[in-house]
Amino acid sequence: MKNVAVIGAGTMGNGIAHTFAQCGYKVQLIDISQESLNKGMATITRNLDRMVAKEKITEADKNATLSNITTYTTIKEGVEYAGLVVEAATENLDLKLKIFKDLDELCPDDTILATNTSSISITQIAAVTSRPEMVIGMHFMNPVPIMKLVEIIRGYNTSDEVTNTIMELSKKLHKIPTEVNDYPGFVANRILMPMINEAIETLYNGVAGVEEIDTVMKLGMAHPMGPLQLADFIGLDVCLSILNVMHDGFKNPKYAPCPLLVNMVMAGKLGVKSKEGFYDYSESRKAEKVAKMFA
Ligand code: NAD
Repeated sequence: MKNVAVIGAGTMGNGIAHTFAQCGYKVQLIDISQESLNKGMATITRNLDRMVAKEKITEADKNATLSNITTYTTIKEGVEYAGLVVEAATENLDLKLKIFKDLDELCPDDTILATNTSSISITQIAAVTSRPEMVIGMHFMNPVPIMKLVEIIRGYNTSDEVTNTIMELSKKLHKIPTEVNDYPGFVANRILMPMINEAIETLYNGVAGVEEIDTVMKLGMAHPMGPLQLADFIGLDVCLSILNVMHDGFKNPKYAPCPLLVNMVMAGKLGVKSKEGFYDYSESRKAEKVAKMFA
């Protein structure tokens, strides 16, 4: 499995492409938007430059990593030789169902189809393909090149063989895979999103300001980043989609998204990616400064 296609070059897709490419895989990075591909490649280059500056990798490693990535604007062009596809397109059920139908038709029969979805049912996605035993969740964390965890989600029909292959592959990427079952939000977001939603609700109720809420959680609970800042990094649209999936899936009002989150997403305030969320990222230097907190 030396050829890996990554669908989506946004926040997660470019990090996934970077990680595979740095480990020697040939990556076909696919996005319908040429602008996203350009931005994604610029982010990968910037992150590699940072690693060179810190002497974690050499200039030759950086060039080798970049030369392992080829970009495409259609799925058809990019998946022909893929042993694995990792889908990291926008968190939207209908979109993912369409992409997996297309992948099933276009990929070789033995290609494993993985999704980086944060919350959507792997079983439901697998059901639109003719190979549900070969569909699996491969949930990387943000920022992908740095975070060690990969949540591996078995759909109802995912085979042991495919699960083992993906667990072993994750280790080859120097990650720590953890196997979980397929229920809305899996483990990571089932626990994280209610906390983020509660932080937004706390702000909405006027209990404290943005910085105060984040300071309490950073200094009081030893979290490396406050929940509102983390929401900005994840993307407020992504947070809203995940909460909606859990709310629909469990029919439990405790997952209902805070109206402030809904309003901010409708207003286009999506966090770092739109340069404004709970914090202001309008100067690119500022965003980079915050990004360094991860490094
Ligand atoms: P994003 O909005 O940053 O990027 C999504 C990309 O998908 C965009 O570049 C868009 O152009 C592209 N896209 C849309 N339709 C497409 C199609 N048909 N074919 C190819 N590309 C298409 O989103 P993101 O934050 O990178 O999230 C991607 C996935 O990863 C989602 O499923 C999300 O739930 C999951 N995820 C996100 C995070 C996070 O912190 N943001 C963490 C873990 C998992």
